[in-house]
Parts: sequence; C-alpha cells; structure tokens
Amino acid sequence: MALYSFKGGIHPPEKKDSTENLKIENFPAPQYLYIPLLQHIGTVCDPIVNIGDRVLKGQKIAESSGKLSVPVHSSVSGIVKKIEILPFTLRGKVNTVVIENDFLEEEIKNEEIVNYKEKTKEELLDLIRDRGLVGLGGALFPSYVKLNPPSDKKIENLVINASECEPYLNSDNRLVIENSFEIIKGIEIALHILGIKEATIGIEDNKVEAIENLRNALKTYPNIKLAVLPTKYPQGGEKQLIKVIYNKVIPSGKLPIDIGFVVLNVTSAFWLYNSIVKGKVLIEEIVTVSGGGISTAKNYRVPIGTQIKEILNTVGFDKEKTEKLLTGGPMMGISQYTDEVPVIKGTSGILALTKEETNPYKSKSCISCGKCVEVCPMGLSPLMYAKFAEFEKWEEFKEYNIFDCIECGSCQFICPAKRPLTEGIRVGKAKLRSMDIK
Ligand code: SF4
Ligand code: SF4
Repeated sequence: MALYSFKGGIHPPEKKDSTENLKIENFPAPQYLYIPLLQHIGTVCDPIVNIGDRVLKGQKIAESSGKLSVPVHSSVSGIVKKIEILPFTLRGKVNTVVIENDFLEEEIKNEEIVNYKEKTKEELLDLIRDRGLVGLGGALFPSYVKLNPPSDKKIENLVINASECEPYLNSDNRLVIENSFEIIKGIEIALHILGIKEATIGIEDNKVEAIENLRNALKTYPNIKLAVLPTKYPQGGEKQLIKVIYNKVIPSGKLPIDIGFVVLNVTSAFWLYNSIVKGKVLIEEIVTVSGGGISTAKNYRVPIGTQIKEILNTVGFDKEKTEKLLTGGPMMGISQYTDEVPVIKGTSGILALTKEETNPYKSKSCISCGKCVEVCPMGLSPLMYAKFAEFEKWEEFKEYNIFDCIECGSCQFICPAKRPLTEGIRVGKAKLRSMDIK
C-alpha cells in the first residue's frame, strides 16, 4: 500500500540483534510476587483481599470504580503476606499486594468464548475490563474504553501498532513471530466490537520474520492489510502511524477517535483473543532483557509482580558495568534506582546499559542550532521548554502546546549541547497538571 511520512523523527542505533532471534522463554514465578494496585492510567485500585487470604492464579485482588481503571489479579496461587506502599516501576511508591507463591499453580477457570459473536458488545466489553486488559505499548489505557468510543465519534478504521520502534526491544516482534494467528483472531474481535470491517497492521521493515509470518497468516483475511513502514523513530506514536499510513493529521489537542481511528497495540489484539476465546486474565508480560550490563540477553514471559532483581539474577547482570538500569526502551523508558521494583503490565523491557551505551553527558548552553525543532515529530519547540523550566515560566508551557508532546525523547537524543529537554518537559507537564491546567 502507498505510504507517506511523518515530520521529524530520528534513527537511533537499533541494537535489536541480540534478542530478535531469541524465542520467548517462560520465566518461573518466584517465591514472592509484588503486585502494584495501579497498572492502568486511572486511579489506584482498592484491595479486595486481606493479609492471610489464599488466592488463586488469575483471581481478582483489587478493584476500582474509576472509569479508566481495570481490576488487578494475582499472577500465582498463594497467600497474601502484606499490603503496603512500596517502590513502584512507574516512579514513586504505590499500594502493593505481596503474595507468597505456593507453587501449586491453582488457577481460576474463566468462561472460554469461542463464539464471541453471540455475545453483545456490552458483554464483551465487560469481560475485557474484568480480565484486566490495558494497552501494553506504555500508556496502560484500558482496552474496554478504547473499544467503546463515545457515540458521537464515527470510527472507520482500526490501526494495529506493531512498529516497536524503541531500540533494543523485541517483545512485540517476538509475539508477532510466535503468535500471529492469535493476533489476527484478536483483530477480528476488535473489528466485531467496533462494528467495522477493515484494519491495517503497521510494522517497521526491520522485522523481517514477523512480516513474513503476518503475510502468510493474512492470506485468508483480505480485510486486514499490512503496512510495512520504513524504520524511523517514533513511528509507534499513534499520530505518527496514522500520518504514515493514511496521510491524515490529527489536530493539536485531538485524539485518533476525533478523526475516526482507533489504534491498538499488537499485544492488545493478542490479549483480546487470549482473554475472550481462551478465558485468560492479563497476568503476564513479555519482557526483552538486554544491554551491555548483562551477559545473556533474553525474551522472557514474566508473571506480573516479579521483581526485576529476580530476572537480573538469571542473565549475568554486572552491577559495576551498568550505568543505567531502565524499564522500557532507552528513548521513553524509566530509570530505576532500585532493582526491587516489579514487572507490571507494559514493562516491555529491562535494560542494563553501560556508560558507552548511555553516553552520559554534561549539559551545556543551548547553541540555537534548531536540531531539536527539526526532529520533533509533533512540530514543537523543545528548546523553549528547557528555558521555561529553568526560569519557572509555567504558563508559557501551555502556550507552546506542551500537552502535544509525546515524550519521545527525539529532541534530547539529537541535541549537541545535551540539554535536559525531556526532563524540562516532564517537569512542565507535572506543574501545569498540579495547577489544573490541561
Ligand atoms: S519529546 Fe516532545 S518535544 Fe521532544 S521531540 Fe518528542 S514530542 Fe517533540
Ligand atoms: S538541539 Fe539543543 S542546542 Fe540545538 S536548539 Fe535545541 S536545545 Fe538548543
């Protein structure tokens, strides 16, 4: 299909070769699981279990009535040992249920709905919420909300994001290679719920085996197209994908649904199939473990709540060599100051990066070269954000459309003066939110 391009973007070293050919291995659940009660963009869930309770694998342990929330489930069978505020993978601390694994693997059995078309849309959406589905691309947006746009929005297209443009990561890539059938079945479920006929999968051209598998699997699905995209970061942004595939621009402050699109991550499609047809609850995450600070890179399927240190213990982690420990990719990932944070939904990578890989810097004054403006895929002026943050000019952030920033880090990557641009952006956004300015 004809393709377009998006403004700006960069080509960071891909660094995917050490894990792209490694099959996903099941990481065994450890003795203790630390399950945070916030794994969605809504409010923190309230525990519905008590210390001393026995829980089963897949059992609901926390709930929230918040619109953008989904329940939290146990990823093992065992005993609830603690419920307390603990360090959290997405920064800070959050209420966490600690479960001691009894290694009996006793699991809740949910209804398997092969003939899902016999269920109403509302019944399917309830199941999707109940089984804990959120987008695993990073935003943790509940899938039941994404698949239920307001009635005044006419949805015409479904876009499946398989681009995985972050360096190092291969979790989506391996899922597509190993589970293309399930992904396509999941796309059909999404189309059924949305009441539309066609979808397009966007994937970058560096994922050769995944593309081949999808091409073969899609032969009997003429309504699902494959768009093979020239590799460029941040192609996985929703607005960038829609621009590249459909040449449509989403105006500032608007969302894909405002111009008739729903974008789902490829993992969401997989989990639609897994949860509805197989009756599974989202209690595991595929994690690429990589970087120069480890000796054996891996793609693991990890029970949610497994502490990062358990995983690092199995891959030859060298603490001395590691300059930066990250969850997620190097562009948008989160620096971790302790390895005692758990894998949660959306933890697609654990990276132990060396000094050479992180290129630690001393920030200098801006030389007004304009490179950050050139690469910004959202048409913003990142150099201004660093200045506003420095001089605490919070109102100006809003004037310069800071909420359009997708925090892709392209500006920071390209800046020759190593200005702390993304840090300024995060500070500015947080400050405006605290002032209730959106
Ligand atoms: S982080 Fe924000 S400002 Fe910087 S390039 Fe990405 S979208 Fe633009
Ligand atoms: S890239 Fe860096 S040095 Fe160049 S204009 Fe932007 S902030 Fe200034």
